[in-house]
Amino acid sequence: MTRLNAIFGGTFDPVHLGHLRVALEISEALDADVRLLPAPVPPHRPQPLASAEQRMAMLELGLAGCARLHADDRELRRDGPSYSVDTLAELRAELGVDAPLVLCVGADAFAGFASWHRYEHIFELSHVLVLTRPGAADRVAWPEPLRAQAVARRGALAQLSESPAGRIAELAVTPLAISATAVRTLIAAGRDPRFLVPDAVAEYIGRLGLYQAAAPRD
Ligand code: ATP
Repeated sequence: MTRLNAIFGGTFDPVHLGHLRVALEISEALDADVRLLPAPVPPHRPQPLASAEQRMAMLELGLAGCARLHADDRELRRDGPSYSVDTLAELRAELGVDAPLVLCVGADAFAGFASWHRYEHIFELSHVLVLTRPGAADRVAWPEPLRAQAVARRGALAQLSESPAGRIAELAVTPLAISATAVRTLIAAGRDPRFLVPDAVAEYIGRLGLYQAAAPRD
């Protein structure tokens, strides 16, 4: 059977246990390899406090020992704006036309999906997995232009491995009340980030003095 590949992007400034728990749950629920892709931040947005190399290094430390979770720096290596559609096109070329590919997005981000660069082409390249919190309060808001396609595109998790692209499924993931912003804020206040980030990441942050002097970026 063709292996299922999923991608999960973020700033990862720094990676924390909320990110890693979600990635693991995606991997288990889909029986998939999950690539975590740190994103370059456009010049007009608040810049990450850690460099691209440091964010990548922390991700690699955090993923050590997780056989099916992989750090992927392809978006950091690309010049100019980084669009999901370009990343998916690159992966599609590498994995072949038959490999099921899944783009994972949070429910909030999915609500704005129709404003993404060439979003319609995304469905030709991959499935979309919308990550929700358990419980009915967090129902997925379908972007208006996609509502008409909801019946045709919506699928069960098991269906994602049956075709290379084109479906939308949902996965309720364990909510951990951790954000990178909160991690940066507590380090800047002189507090210890252990048990919010993997131990090796806490050790790296301490060794390099990351996030200590600088004010949180938002
Ligand atoms: P920041 O606080 O700097 O905005 P963040 O913690 O939200 O960062 P990102 O790197 O921006 O982290 O997020 C990458 C992805 O991980 C996003 O889809 C985001 O919704 C998701 N995510 C972040 N924190 C959690 C969490 N605690 N549980 C589940 N998903 C999370």
